[in-house]
Parts: sequence; structure tokens; C-alpha cells
Amino acid sequence: MQIKTLFNYAIKFKGFIVEDIKLDRSRNELVVQIQPRKGSKPKCSGCESSGSVYDHLKERRFILPPMWGIKVILIYKMRRVDCRDCGKVLVEQVPWSIGKSPVTKEFATLLANWTRKMSWKDAAYFFNVSWDIVASSVIWAVEWGLAHRSLEDITAIGVDEIQYRGGHKYLTLVYQIDKHCRRLIWIGKEHKKKTLQAFCDFMGPDRCKKIEFVCSDMWKPYIAVIAERLSQAVHVLDRFHIVANLNKAVDQTRRDEAARLKKEGKPAYLKKSRWLFLKKKKNLRGKSRTRLRELLDMNLRVVKAYLFKEDFDHLWTYNHPNWAGRFIDAWTRDVMRHRSLPELKKFARTIRDHKELILNYFRAKKKFSSGIVEGFNNKAKLTIRKSYGFRSDKIREIALYHTLGNLPLPLTTHRFF
Ligand SMILES: [Zn+2]
Repeated sequence: MQIKTLFNYAIKFKGFIVEDIKLDRSRNELVVQIQPRKGSKPKCSGCESSGSVYDHLKERRFILPPMWGIKVILIYKMRRVDCRDCGKVLVEQVPWSIGKSPVTKEFATLLANWTRKMSWKDAAYFFNVSWDIVASSVIWAVEWGLAHRSLEDITAIGVDEIQYRGGHKYLTLVYQIDKHCRRLIWIGKEHKKKTLQAFCDFMGPDRCKKIEFVCSDMWKPYIAVIAERLSQAVHVLDRFHIVANLNKAVDQTRRDEAARLKKEGKPAYLKKSRWLFLKKKKNLRGKSRTRLRELLDMNLRVVKAYLFKEDFDHLWTYNHPNWAGRFIDAWTRDVMRHRSLPELKKFARTIRDHKELILNYFRAKKKFSSGIVEGFNNKAKLTIRKSYGFRSDKIREIALYHTLGNLPLPLTTHRFF
């Protein structure tokens, strides 16, 4: 069997034929010369209508998926079209090309598939291409996916913020958290009111009206925009964020106390105790459990804060909003009595102020539990942390959409076994 037969069997470009295939041993490349089929007219890249040939450009190289460890290169002289509709001379559109990149759609799809499983750097290494080639492939696939995804039937969303650049910058991420579809749907810079307003503008009034549940943290600008623009939706304050805030309060109490003990010249009781107080008691084993028991016997502020935190966990066991409400009343009242726990009091005040929104969590029958947003949050953080080489904001966004957006991929019929 000829190699040409094999090639034509695997890959077909309408309107083009393979003229020649040669193995370049010195460069370990299979070089495929492509020509237009006789009588076929070039398509204008501006308007996609056929036109007459104006001239030919210099040969261009395009990279196809490798075969048996050999690079496969497509060589073609692009035609320029004298387009009547556009009123100018434009380069032709060819079915394998993705703009100015030397990557073919076939190879870009392959790279886009693998970069959902491995880092961009690893993909560049394994496929023996530059990082920029991988990046241009993923950008193309994500832009295609964004243009071809459906934003209909979104009834539940989660709004979250994420820090990057060492906590100096914020992104607002909006997820669809419906049972049938969970994915990242929107990214906005910063975490201001105008950020979430921009999301509502992007969705448009009709799609906004269909949203029945919104999960978010207690961030004021978000709360304001949700009340204003998504007023028909039940706003559920997310369990994950509430617990995270409580943990922060306990941790700050511990830090303040450790500093105080040091100043007073007392022994460092609290050394390396951070995780003892943050983990749930039932998850501690062995030595850490013994250590925690010893600490709990001491008359320390952080111990009080810790006991309040453990107690607060009962809230999530309630099924009825009324009982949950009573628990919140009692718990916040107890905390407010302790003058020595300013951080925890601050938390209790926030909880009291947002009680109605928290009770929505129970009214929504706990349907939108913390797990979903927390899972996304961790994945998003990981993507940003792995973003070595993601020099620009655009690339960072592309990477987030690529890993979390559940976007359709182009050429999905084209599988590589
Ligand atoms: Zn045109």
C-alpha cells in the first residue's frame, strides 16, 4: 500500500488533493505536498464566498498529528482571492488552518484534548513542539468552544472569587451548578459590583430571568447586584464560604493569642497548632488528637473560639429553616457575650446580618451544597497555580475555560487511538 493511500484514507480536505509525499530522513519529517483540485475555486477568508485566484503566496508549512514518531508536515502555497463581495484581495480560507498559526485543526484538536489531562508544558514536551504552538491550539479550541456552547436552560449558578498574583488580584468566576450541567460559564476581572453587573449584561435579561438559584459568599458587592439584577432567584449563601470565614476567624484568634503569649513571655503552647484547630475533631488521629485534648484543657481564647466552631457545625444538620434560624440566633447570642473573641464576634455579626440568605440554603433543601463550588474553587486554584508560563490575563482565562468550562471541542469525530 502506498503512503498516499493511507494519508487519503485518514485525512480528507475537500477541494484539495495530495500531490506528493516524501520522507525527509534528516529532519525526521513526512512532507505532504497539497494542491487545489483542478477547477476548484479558492474561498475568501473574509466572507467565505468563492472567488477567482489573484496570485499564489510562498509555501507555508502546517503541522499535522505525528505518525509513528515521525513529524507530519503539510506544504501548501496559499492562493489569494480577488473577492468581489469584500472588494479587495484576501488570502484564501483552507479547511485545515487556524488563522496565522502553523498548526492544523487536526493537530490543534489533539493538543487541546491532551492539555485537559496534562500541563501545557508537558504537552509541548511530549509532542515535540513549542509552548506557543500548544497555547495557540488551546486558544483556538477554547474560542471555538465558547462560540459553540449553549447558554440556555441555566437555572442555578454559583458566584465565586479567586485570588492570584499572591493575593493582589481577583477574578470573579461564575459557574453553572445545575444537576444536569456543572461548568465554568463566565470570568470577570476583579470582584466589584460592576464585575457581576457585566455578567448580567453578558447573559441578557431573558437568560437572567431563568436563573432560580444563586450561590455566593457574603461579599457585599455580589449581594447587592444579585438583589438588583437577579431578584427573582433564591439567593443561597454558600456553606463552603461560611465555613471558610469561620475558620479564618478561629485562625486569627489563634495568631493574636500566640503573639500575646509571646509578648507576656509565656511558653509557646500554640506552636504548630494551626491545623489542630482548623480540622474537624473527628478527623484527627493519634498524636494530634492527644495534643488537641491537652490544649483544650487550657484556659485559652482560641480554645473557646474552637469550641464555638465545632458547635456551629450542628447548623448543617437541620432540615427545617425555622430550626436552623433558632440555632443561628442562639449561637450568635452566645458568641456576642465574649468580649475576648473580637474576630469571632465579627463573624457572628455577619451571620446575623445575613441570616435570611443563609436560611435560603435550607429552603433550597440543601440542593446546592458546598461541594460543588468548593470543588470548582480547588480546580480553579490548581489551574492558576500550574499556570507557569501563562504570562497574560488572556491566557489565564483561556486555561480556566479549558479545564473547567466543559466546552465542546472541535472535530470531535476525529479520534486519535
Ligand atoms: Zn470576501
